[in-house]
Amino acid sequence: MEGLTGVSLARTLLLRASHSAWLAEQLRRRRFVHRAVRRFMPGEDLADALRAATDLAAGGIGSILTQLGENITSRAEADAVRDHYLGVLDQVRGRKLPAQVSVKLTQLGLDVDRAACEASLRTLVARAAEHGATLWIDMEDSTYADVTLALFRKMRAETPHVGVALQAYLRRTPADLETLLPLAPTIRLVKGAYNEAPSVAFPQKRDVDAQYETLAATLLANTARGTRPVFGTHDLGLITRIRARAAELRAAPGSYEVHMLYGVRAAEQRALAAAGVPVKVLISYGRAWFAWYMRRLAERPANVWFVVRSLF
Ligand SMILES: Cc1cc2nc3c(=O)[nH]c(=O)nc-3n(C[C@H](O)[C@H](O)[C@H](O)COP(=O)(O)OP(=O)(O)OC[C@H]3O[C@@H](n4cnc5c(N)ncnc54)[C@H](O)[C@@H]3O)c2cc1C
Repeated sequence: MEGLTGVSLARTLLLRASHSAWLAEQLRRRRFVHRAVRRFMPGEDLADALRAATDLAAGGIGSILTQLGENITSRAEADAVRDHYLGVLDQVRGRKLPAQVSVKLTQLGLDVDRAACEASLRTLVARAAEHGATLWIDMEDSTYADVTLALFRKMRAETPHVGVALQAYLRRTPADLETLLPLAPTIRLVKGAYNEAPSVAFPQKRDVDAQYETLAATLLANTARGTRPVFGTHDLGLITRIRARAAELRAAPGSYEVHMLYGVRAAEQRALAAAGVPVKVLISYGRAWFAWYMRRLAERPANVWFVVRSLF
């Protein structure tokens, strides 16, 4: 860890902690942790998420719903996740909510049975397509990048109603994007939330930010050929530069969107929506929040102080 700054050391430690089952169990038992987690999620139940999505919709902001959980270890669990999301898609449609669903492939059983995971993904994409919605595939750690992109390509060959996240911190991402562009893809560009080796991902934030901006410009330049970019970021300077670039390129209004996380920069979400930028908020819910919450703390180690402060 030589040469790490305080912030990147805190990030590394928090991301390592995200793998600790012992710590997960300890924290899950503490009520003050539940209070702190509530900053980033409206509640553990789908009903809480749907209520938050309804409130956001009233302010002109769409939602992406995702049930927390990853790396599940049995077919039965994976099937239950698929069935849960089928129910979510139906509830969203029934309530006429401007909401979509985002899934992690390891939550659909990728580690257990790849063929069954693919079948479940196809079922979900088809149901989203029936509703005219997009089914999102999150990008997990880099060991899953190849398989995630391969499954995205397969689904995209069948329907446009599917999108995938690309991570700007990965050195490989410009090459991945080049191969995806001919498919007229729907892409959520994010900086990347996992602990990766320097050989795989840029360790310096300024390099990640620079690569994000270059990739964003490529995505915007391809909107006229059917690429649908979503910028999943809270970096307001970056969003300003992306909007300026879109204006320069005369990208059609609504040809790109900005997505943020529930509870982060809520005022700016509303301001962007009021300025005519389509905005969606990713709402997480469910009981398996530990690894996910550690990643949120790692994104802004100052958030750890929210946890400490909520102790008193
Ligand atoms: C809609 C959406 C989907 C995502 N999907 C994925 C995915 O599939 N795979 C993946 O690896 N990652 C995903 N991420 C997470 C992403 O990779 C980043 O870790 C996260 O968005 C933080 O980076 P940033 O772009 O906001 O920029 P940063 O430069 O990290 O942050 C910009 C500003 O926002 C503030 N900020 C950022 N995060 C937080 C936070 N948690 N709490 C408080 N303030 C914060 C920072 O303090 C800073 O001021 C997703 C993020 C979003 C918004």
